[in-house]
Amino acid sequence: MTSLEKSEQPCKSCTSNKGKLQRIIEGWGNYLFPDKEIEAMAKLRALKCATCDFNILEVCTKCICPIPAKTRSVDSKCEINRW
Ligand code: SF4
Repeated sequence: MTSLEKSEQPCKSCTSNKGKLQRIIEGWGNYLFPDKEIEAMAKLRALKCATCDFNILEVCTKCICPIPAKTRSVDSKCEINRW
């Protein structure tokens, strides 16, 4: 595997279930207790998700994450790099 191919691999914290769960919990926390800057970020992300084929009923079927929480988790990333 070349170094370029390596850098294209998702980081371990992005793919581990523990890291994913922590980010989703953070996202739901930000959903329940909104912060102005995070809401602005979530709105931009949600616009991208709104037109994505992986968005089925507000669940990202690429990573099986609830989009309202995923878009509000600061460290979350779109797995197809739309945001
Ligand atoms: S996070 Fe990315 S892959 Fe998932 S629904 Fe949003 S744009 Fe699509």
